[in-house]
Amino acid sequence: MTTKDIWVFIEREGEEIAEPSLEILGKATELTKKFGYTLTGILLGTPGDETARETIRYGADRAIILKHDDLNDYSNDLYVKSLFDAIRKETPTAFLIGATPYGRDLAGRLAARLRTGLTANAINMEMDENGLVVFGVPAYGGKILAEIVCEKTRPQMSTVRPGTFNKVYDPKREGKIRTLIPDLSNVRNRVKVLERNVSKLKDLSKSERTIVGGNGTGGDITLVKRLAELANCDIGVTRPLADKGLVPRDLQVGSTGYSLKSKVALILGVSGSEHFTSGIKDCETVVSIDIDERSEIFNHSDYCIVGDVSEIVPLLINKLEDKA
Ligand SMILES: Cc1cc2nc3c(=O)[nH]c(=O)nc-3n(C[C@H](O)[C@H](O)[C@H](O)COP(=O)(O)OP(=O)(O)OC[C@H]3O[C@@H](n4cnc5c(N)ncnc54)[C@H](O)[C@@H]3O)c2cc1C
Repeated sequence: MTTKDIWVFIEREGEEIAEPSLEILGKATELTKKFGYTLTGILLGTPGDETARETIRYGADRAIILKHDDLNDYSNDLYVKSLFDAIRKETPTAFLIGATPYGRDLAGRLAARLRTGLTANAINMEMDENGLVVFGVPAYGGKILAEIVCEKTRPQMSTVRPGTFNKVYDPKREGKIRTLIPDLSNVRNRVKVLERNVSKLKDLSKSERTIVGGNGTGGDITLVKRLAELANCDIGVTRPLADKGLVPRDLQVGSTGYSLKSKVALILGVSGSEHFTSGIKDCETVVSIDIDERSEIFNHSDYCIVGDVSEIVPLLINKLEDKA
């Protein structure tokens, strides 16, 4: 038996709540309102009450804080144990987590521990009156939106792609804040934070002008960086470049990275796999350069330039340097 309650994992850095958590609240509130469910934001650590109240203003009916000093920094061991116990005790019907690096790390192990199903990187969520959540995930190269349900086990879990849903905010909205004290006495915590180094990179889903480099840049993104600097753009990359460690993972665009909503995106040497193009579909204008005139990326672009990025990018740089 589960309760008519949907939980959203509220990821935070200090008192700042991560955007993907707020976006999920925005979408989930539509579902819970329609069917009379409760929407709960789950915070871990010792956040201020004001942070918990923010989750309510962003759509939650109530907030639960799993309060423990050791939960202020993310640790898979401690988070999985605390959430597992809380979920078993409170029995929410669904648990939603942003598909951020921490969220993805947490979701897999927690779902395994709960022996429940986990949908990865949902871009849509609908619910029926019986509380069955239908998660939409692009499949077969994005040609279809696969509908995934978790019929038999609870909670129904999913990670949700950042940048997919809109936030809602009501400064007057109020709700209850509950505190639960997790028992972490027997947990072997294998992570010790030695130093905090918070990424200063801009959240790519907020970038207005973005230049994205793919494998066609030959793996050397020095020129892409220079062009971005001169054109006052942010940089993104495809997954192979992030996999090679050429740039931080925070700069990956696509189904397992960030979704762009840029006014203009310049795409350099990218083949246009669905895993990538799903991350640029909300851009206003897409300009692509690819050496192969049949490249799939051109089917997702407003302006298509057939050519070698190693020739065209230096020309653009020279032009902008002349102007500077
Ligand atoms: C579960 C899963 C999740 C994934 N998530 C993501 C994701 O979030 N983001 C992502 O990007 N990928 C993701 N991928 C990988 C994705 O499927 C593709 O493999 C990847 O996007 C390809 O990257 P690319 O276009 O840079 O490279 P390639 O496919 O190698 O394409 C390179 C392109 O550059 C062109 N080119 C080559 N040389 C030049 C030149 N000199 N000048 C101009 N053009 C040139 C080529 O014609 C080609 O079109 C995922 C895959 C899986 C299985």
